Amino acid sequence: STQIRLAARPLGEPRDSDFQTTVRTLPQLRNGQVSLRTVYLSLDPYMRGRMSDAKSYADPVEIGDVMVGGTVCEVIESRAAGRQAGDLVLAYTGWQTHAVADARHTRRLDPRQAPVSTALGVLGMPGFTAYAGLFEIGRPKPGETVVVAAATGPVGSAVGQLARLRGARAVGIAGGPRKCRALREVFGFDAAIDHRSPTFREDLAAASPDGVDVYFENVGGPVADAVTHRLNKFARIPVCGLVADYNATGQPEGVDRLPGFLRRVLTLSLTVRGFIQDEFVPSLHDAFLHDMAGWVREGSVRYREDIVEGLEQAPEAFRGLLSGRNFGKLLVRVGED
Ligand code: NDP
Repeated sequence: STQIRLAARPLGEPRDSDFQTTVRTLPQLRNGQVSLRTVYLSLDPYMRGRMSDAKSYADPVEIGDVMVGGTVCEVIESRAAGRQAGDLVLAYTGWQTHAVADARHTRRLDPRQAPVSTALGVLGMPGFTAYAGLFEIGRPKPGETVVVAAATGPVGSAVGQLARLRGARAVGIAGGPRKCRALREVFGFDAAIDHRSPTFREDLAAASPDGVDVYFENVGGPVADAVTHRLNKFARIPVCGLVADYNATGQPEGVDRLPGFLRRVLTLSLTVRGFIQDEFVPSLHDAFLHDMAGWVREGSVRYREDIVEGLEQAPEAFRGLLSGRNFGKLLVRVGED
């Protein structure tokens, strides 16, 4: 197996020297295990947290360990009931071309139901994050305005489309005109705003004439400051991610915006609720798979993938994810599909 391991804890944006490529032979299969060939590796923003040893909701990757990550794999050999060579499975084998895994840590995928890559995107963890965060915490009502940033990504694009399915108005924020066009034309957002535009704050105000009832927080930073000035009384903020800060090495410069924000929390009776998607898996994952697969099949939820070729591209593609160079769910094609 060719593997990418964490060689050093990155300071700021991860560099090539923070990773190390190794080649290892796989261990012997034991009962209950399968040997796997990686087809797709998912790259996700949370991986930046795993590279760091700052306290978080999950343990960091140790120096010298293979980088973690969700994968779609083909079973090469099986010593487990219910898995045969040739099966495609969802696994969590990380940044490597081959791996041995316990079969109970894999889920079989049916390529006739949906392209298997969707198990890492719209029908996988990011799609579930949108579903759980929006429906359990955001709770949009018909006619309300929902705002989400990183809106062409797998989480944001699902949030906007699910908001519209609930009869709400969806406003998407993305970087650059190409992404904004896709928000309107591919994903059906009611309005699209470019956070890099010098008129961003005015554009946001024009796109939310009745204020904002749900701000699905994916990014933090100046975007969050602008949106939280547009919130209505009783607005809800599912706090899902703060990708603008993941490479930060210190506190942001400038005035302290926290007191102003807390004043709005108080005077507008806001609900601010952070979440990690695992929390909702026991209660909602079956309903998600059923509902989302139906919406994807009938075309009421669309998705976009950004696929890079070859495991060796993973570090560069990951840097691009945190700075907006990806356009859609970022996947690495590690082996033939
Ligand atoms: P995306 O594919 O949307 O990638 C991240 C995007 O963030 C970039 O493409 C870029 O888009 C945008 N971005 C980066 N920096 C900034 C910035 N400074 N200001 C505004 N936008 C920025 O990622 P995902 O859909 O996979 O994830 C979206 C969020 O959801 C992340 O914060 C992630 O950590 C979080 N998440 C949380 C989970 C949970 O359980 N809480 C689970 C899964 C994801 P653009 O070019 O449009 O700016």
